[in-house]
Amino acid sequence: EAAINRIAAGEVVERPASAVKELVENALDAGARRITVDCADGGKRLIRVTDDGCGIAADDLPLALSRHATSKIDGTDLLNIHTFGFRGEALPSLGAVGRLTVTSRVAGQDAAEILVEGGTVNAVRPAALNSGTVVTLRELFYATPARLKFLRTDRAESQAIADVVKRLSMAEPFVQFILRDVSGDAPREIFRAEGETGDLFDALHGRLSGVIGREFAENALRIDAEREGLHLTGYAALPTYSRGAAVAQYLFVNGRPVRDKLLVGALRAAYFDFLSRDRHPVAALFLDCDPKLVDVNVHPAKSEVRFRDPGMARGLIVSALRHALAEAGH
Ligand code: ADP
Ligand code: MG
Repeated sequence: EAAINRIAAGEVVERPASAVKELVENALDAGARRITVDCADGGKRLIRVTDDGCGIAADDLPLALSRHATSKIDGTDLLNIHTFGFRGEALPSLGAVGRLTVTSRVAGQDAAEILVEGGTVNAVRPAALNSGTVVTLRELFYATPARLKFLRTDRAESQAIADVVKRLSMAEPFVQFILRDVSGDAPREIFRAEGETGDLFDALHGRLSGVIGREFAENALRIDAEREGLHLTGYAALPTYSRGAAVAQYLFVNGRPVRDKLLVGALRAAYFDFLSRDRHPVAALFLDCDPKLVDVNVHPAKSEVRFRDPGMARGLIVSALRHALAEAGH
């Protein structure tokens, strides 16, 4: 069992940022409205995710840490997934590659805590916590020095963590996100996004303004298009707005951040006439469809997706963006 956990862990947890992704997604699945991520030494020494979600009952803690135990789907309908998690792999994987502590409290019950080290799950014990869940992962990869060696500098790993948190924050504009570096004596805030209010477009505009920048939000065209069950919403920058060489493309499929060649290609195609070596499309686009039309189950950690009809997804993006650009006089 421990060996299986370690092998699967390599698939799910490549670096600190992948651990952060899994933990923040769990917090979102738990209905959290406030999520705080603390990291020390690029996440290598410490990752701590605190949420105000539904919590895990003391009796369920050992189950949450066992392989393929998920409270989210019953396993029969892998094509119809509405939560980030569905494999029940993240927590056991993290418990196999670091020292993992889960402290949690369900409203009206007592708080409890469980510790996993090197894949060994310890007994549940009472803990102190007001509400929600705190997951702490210490000394990631301490048992596998070979993997530790492949990690990049603390600075690079911190940047990857910030990128993950920012992308997830765009997918959930109503939720508060705070990212802090706790390497030193005093916590240093790296990123903060207050929970937005208003309708989804207002909230998204506010969030994008905070994450990508005011200038982007002020230069962004609102995208809202639909074709045969595929719905595309979001904001795309005017071609005159440039981020220099820095690429800022944020793509989401059914609420999940993805890095998908097909979608990036569609974005490039839409902006083709305006591209140059130092001018890249800047956009935050949300593609939503019946979960049965897209497979997010391709790989546990890679953010790729497979559409049943790739041509239609591409076509919708290209036509919606070209239309918006033309309307704006480009
Ligand atoms: P998955 O997300 O695929 O279900 P995980 O290993 O990430 O698998 O989590 C296992 C289970 O632990 C989840 O199904 C959920 O019931 C519980 N869980 C994990 N994190 C949290 C959290 N932050 N709040 C509430 N429940 C959680
Ligand atoms: Mg999960």
